Amino acid sequence: MGGTFNPIHYGHLVTAETARVQFEMDQVLFIPSGNPPHKKGLPIVDTEDRYMMTVLAVMSNPDFYASRIEIDRQGYSYSIDTIRQLQQIYGPETEICFITGADAYYNMSTWHQAEELMESCHFIAATRPGFDKEDLLRSLADSVKMNPKLRISFLDVPALSISSSDIRQRIENGLSIRYLLPETVEAYIHKYHLYERK
Ligand code: ATP
Ligand code: MG
Repeated sequence: MGGTFNPIHYGHLVTAETARVQFEMDQVLFIPSGNPPHKKGLPIVDTEDRYMMTVLAVMSNPDFYASRIEIDRQGYSYSIDTIRQLQQIYGPETEICFITGADAYYNMSTWHQAEELMESCHFIAATRPGFDKEDLLRSLADSVKMNPKLRISFLDVPALSISSSDIRQRIENGLSIRYLLPETVEAYIHKYHLYERK
């Protein structure tokens, strides 16, 4: 499961747990992005802070792990490179699934090395109630034309309107972020004064 995790929250964790159960996965790796090509210029806290918060968030789940694979790579983080690297680490017998929010798949045909990427693993698109699946399917038609081997499954995740941007905004405005993310992550944010107004 990839994301900026700026910060990680219960929306990410519920999505991963739902995917793990539904697709009978052995493990879920949470992979904070290193240098996201599509988020140039946005305020992002230090990479190590995002990694630390991810470690804290996954600690209590024996099947969840945090991975430094994208953080430790130089240059921009491209999904294709991550998937190839994971396939190498875990071997050809291991099936890799790529979990992320359904919104991420809208422009799949523009992703780096899109054609190869599309057949590199099983894609899982997490949707929240109210998400317009038909609209995404229309847009995915282009991707399937590009590579008919594209395998993408939808996963309905319980309604959680939590987002990292909302959490950051709450902190800036001095509002509570309790119960939106694990207490350990909340404590880390407050201890190091992350996201506070300068
Ligand atoms: P931001 O508000 O800064 O965009 P975010 O909360 O969307 O952050 P990301 O790190 O960008 O967090 O998310 C990684 C992936 O997890 C994205 O594909 C996103 O759609 C998905 N996601 C985020 N929050 C939820 C949620 N509450 N339920 C389901 N999926 C989510
Ligand atoms: Mg987002």
